[in-house]
Amino acid sequence: MANCTMSTINGSLFASQLFTPTRVALRPVAAARLNSSAATPPSLIRNEPVFAAPAPIIHPLLKEDMGKDSYEEAIVALQKLLSEKGELGPVAAAKIDEITAELQTADGSTSINSESVERLKTGFITFKREKYEKNPALYGELAKGQSPKFMVFACSDSRVCPSHVLDFQPGEAFMVRNIANMVPPYDKTKYSGVGAAIEYAVLHLKVQEIVVIGHSACGGIKGLMSFPYDGSSSTDFIEDWVKICLPAKAKVLAECGNTPFGDQCAQCEKEAVNVSLGNLLSYPFVREGLVKKTLALKGGYYDFVKGSFELWGLEFGLSPSLSV
Ligand SMILES: [Zn+2]
Repeated sequence: MANCTMSTINGSLFASQLFTPTRVALRPVAAARLNSSAATPPSLIRNEPVFAAPAPIIHPLLKEDMGKDSYEEAIVALQKLLSEKGELGPVAAAKIDEITAELQTADGSTSINSESVERLKTGFITFKREKYEKNPALYGELAKGQSPKFMVFACSDSRVCPSHVLDFQPGEAFMVRNIANMVPPYDKTKYSGVGAAIEYAVLHLKVQEIVVIGHSACGGIKGLMSFPYDGSSSTDFIEDWVKICLPAKAKVLAECGNTPFGDQCAQCEKEAVNVSLGNLLSYPFVREGLVKKTLALKGGYYDFVKGSFELWGLEFGLSPSLSV
C-alpha cells in the first residue's frame, strides 16, 4: 500500500517546489464504445442539430396587456420629456428596468428568468466598469490578438475556475474545462473538440505550458470510482467520458483498495491528472514541443476544502523517436 497520500504544499499559490512523482506509464488509446440503448428524445426536442438562429433574446420592455391608450400616451409623454431633458435618459432607463422587473415578477412565470437576466446584466456592468474601462491598455492589446503563456485544463465544477483561483488575467490562459479536467488520448474521430483546442494552443498560439488541474471533491472522479463498468450504463455521456481515466482508478484500487472510499477518490483526483498528462504525449505536436523544449507539462491540484494548491512536473524520459 504505497503512496496513498501525497504531500501537499499549503499556503501561497505556486509554491516554488516542483516535485517529480512516479514516472507515468503511457496508456493505450481508450477504445470507443457506442451506446446502442440511447433513449428516444422527448417529442418536443428534435434529435438533430439546430441550424437556424434562435429567436431574438431581447424581451419587450413593457407588457402588451396594459391599457393600450394609456400606455401609448405614457410613452409619448415620456419621449417628450426626454427630448426636452435628455439628461434624464439614464434615470428613465433605470426606472423602466424596475417596472419591467416588477411586472415580470408579478406575472410569476418569468421571475426566475428575469433574476437570471438581471444577474448577467449587473455582472457585465460591474466587469465593464471595474475592469474593462480601468485597463484600456490591456484590453486594447487583447483587441489585436492573444498570446497566452498557459494552456489550462480544469474541471467544469463551478468552484474551481482557474481565472479566479490562479488570478489569470484575460489573455493569460487558453482554457479547456470539462468533467473532471480530463485530457483524452489523441483520437481524431472521438475527441476532436479537445484535440482542436490542444492543436490550436500548441501550434498556433504557441503556449509554453500545459497545466492539468484536478481538484478536491470532484464529482466526475467520484463517478469514475463509482461506475461499475460492467457493461451496464446509467448515463448518456458521463461514464463514457470519465473512463478516459480508468487507468487512474485501477492504480488507486491496486494501491489503496482498502482505504475509505473518500480517500480513494482524493487519490484518484491526482492520479487522473497524471493519466491526462500521459495522454498529452499521444498528440504529435505536444511531443514535438517537449522534445524541442518549447513546451512543458505540469500537473496541479486545487483543494478548496484546505485552501491549498499543489503543482508538479513529470519526467517522461522523452526521446525524439518516442511513439505512443
Ligand atoms: Zn470536478
